[in-house]
Amino acid sequence: ESLSVAELAKKLHREPSEIIKKLFMLGVMATINQELDKDAIELICADYGVEVEEEIRIDKTDLDTYFDDTIVEVDENALEERPPVVTIMGHVDHGKTSLLDSIRKTKVTAGEAGGITQHIGAYQVEVNGKKISFLDTPGHAAFTTMRARGASITDIAIIVVAADDGVMPQTVEAINHAKAAEVPIIVAINKMDKPSANPDRVQQELTEHGLVPEAWGGDTIFVPISALKGEGIDQLLEMILLVSEVGELKANPTRSAIGTVIEAQLDKGRGAVATLLVQDGTLRVGDPIVVGHAYGRVRAMVNDLGRRIKTAGPSMPIEITGLNEVPQAGDRFVVFQDEKTARQVGESRSMTAIQASRSEKQRVTLDNLFEQMSQGEMKELNLIVKADVQGTVEAMASSLMKIDVEGVNVKIIHTGAGAITESDISLAAASNAIVIGFNVRPDTNAKRAADEEGVDIRLHRIIYKVIEEIEHAMKGMLDPEF
Ligand code: GDP
Repeated sequence: ESLSVAELAKKLHREPSEIIKKLFMLGVMATINQELDKDAIELICADYGVEVEEEIRIDKTDLDTYFDDTIVEVDENALEERPPVVTIMGHVDHGKTSLLDSIRKTKVTAGEAGGITQHIGAYQVEVNGKKISFLDTPGHAAFTTMRARGASITDIAIIVVAADDGVMPQTVEAINHAKAAEVPIIVAINKMDKPSANPDRVQQELTEHGLVPEAWGGDTIFVPISALKGEGIDQLLEMILLVSEVGELKANPTRSAIGTVIEAQLDKGRGAVATLLVQDGTLRVGDPIVVGHAYGRVRAMVNDLGRRIKTAGPSMPIEITGLNEVPQAGDRFVVFQDEKTARQVGESRSMTAIQASRSEKQRVTLDNLFEQMSQGEMKELNLIVKADVQGTVEAMASSLMKIDVEGVNVKIIHTGAGAITESDISLAAASNAIVIGFNVRPDTNAKRAADEEGVDIRLHRIIYKVIEEIEHAMKGMLDPEF
């Protein structure tokens, strides 16, 4: 994809100094070892009257390439509608688990009378002849852990808000996690059966977070429900189908399967057991498969009712056995033509994983920010702002957004009053953001998570220092730290 100045010079049979001069004339300052982007390479080649032929190399061991539509050919004719994958998020005790249970109870047995639901981490229901898949781990921790690992499997987020309690800190977190992932949101106003329910207040509070009901001129769907009494569940499911239709979710059931691990564990009798979500293609018993760094053959496949099945199509969650080791939630899986290739890829992936775990992850920090910006890799600087009081949070966020450095936009992806938490860090890791704390510190878990993930936390006690530091970092004027 990219070439250094020296490599390009060699390909063009020119001296590097000549290339550097030409780049300079074109307004690009470059050194001999600098990596050039596609545009710069094309400019230079055009100057020499040479046409660029792009060579796309697929790294067979990089499972991500199998998920990349631009590399893997998409057969438009084979695409079919697929069910949406839904995650339920919201504040603790607002009814996420009750809602998941309520949906499962009313709908999961349709057409499968007598099936006993089995917890495999996700389940599917049928509504008006159409299927919907639900991830069965409520909350945004799982959602964001997956995203941090590069997997985005959720098509629609349901934000549950208790009508008697209103918008709470984790409600806001959930909204920001969904927004950062660019996933459409449906709001379920729960506990409508309670006499103290006040749905108007919930709607009012949510408008402050950009979720405005249609009746008030916005485009967010609100559904009043009672998870406890099973009221409003049908309407909620219909709205999910509506949003899913708008999203035109498609997959090709004829190709070999790819997807993501929902959860996995070691079972005494059965060995490694993994719940997979098929995202494209059809998975079959007997398929040679690589799952993260594990590999094997799909020995047995079970659906969310504990029934043995032979095939699983797009958006279907299934539990499989047959892997040589236990993969991790968020790991990708890819089916291969033959078992030998699967084994080779699996083995070489676990080798590189061991090496990679030794080398540092390259995340944005204030120290490497300018470098990443000058390489054109950053168009947006994502920030998470935490402070001791809400007023300060708002003042800081609005000042930070005003920072104006050419070419880079400051984007505040989450704010909150209180200590920096593990959830802040996982959001930062998933969105490549820097965390700013004003008069607050990270708690122990957050500190450990930040070290592990390489997330940059900046702590301050004076507002203008915060702004100054970010501004200087963006301009490459940060004083070295001693
Ligand atoms: P979670 O922490 O978000 O998963 O919330 P839970 O589903 O565990 O619910 C928390 C509490 O609220 C439980 O005691 C539920 O019985 C109760 N609850 C959930 N939904 C409703 C509802 O629609 N109406 C009423 N009255 N209580 C509810």
